[in-house]
Amino acid sequence: MIFNIQRYSTHDGPGIRTVVFLKGCSLGCRWCQNPESRARSEDLLYDARLCLDGCELCQQAAPEVITRTLDGLIIHRQNVNDAHIAALRHCCPTTALTVCGEEKSVAEIMATVLRDKPFYDRSGGGITLSGGEPFMNPTLAQALFEASIRRAFTPPWKPACTYRGSTLNPLYRLSICFWPT
Ligand code: SF4
Repeated sequence: MIFNIQRYSTHDGPGIRTVVFLKGCSLGCRWCQNPESRARSEDLLYDARLCLDGCELCQQAAPEVITRTLDGLIIHRQNVNDAHIAALRHCCPTTALTVCGEEKSVAEIMATVLRDKPFYDRSGGGITLSGGEPFMNPTLAQALFEASIRRAFTPPWKPACTYRGSTLNPLYRLSICFWPT
């Protein structure tokens, strides 16, 4: 599961890169920049500043989960199931309520990554996996790196990833350049 794909990143490794944020992390660091990435499953995120007065669309879509009050939303997270997530994913007109996390195939992710191949070739950039902790999902991480290598980004293509974890193999065999954090 991923929670974001950020194109044209210039701060997450050499050159111009696309950062794929995988969801799930077991560390819980106090300085975490992406706390919404910690859970392995989808989360509901709410920004009261964007919520519209008088709107009840989300409550109508999932009344077991959302209670609309004058002060904003009460989210009954213990009741959330897959049907609620589906009902709420595109419900809010202002993105005050969003679903964080989406299952995407390797092909779908790579279709986005490969849009910027000319920029990687010119700048020595490529793909960066972030999160979350990419090594919480080594199967997806390995598949993405292998798919990137198969698409033969022009050398010196340098994959980079943030690393705090213990699942090095089999990623290590892909000669990945680890980007210290
Ligand atoms: S749908 Fe969005 S704007 Fe409307 S009540 Fe829910 S969070 Fe607020």
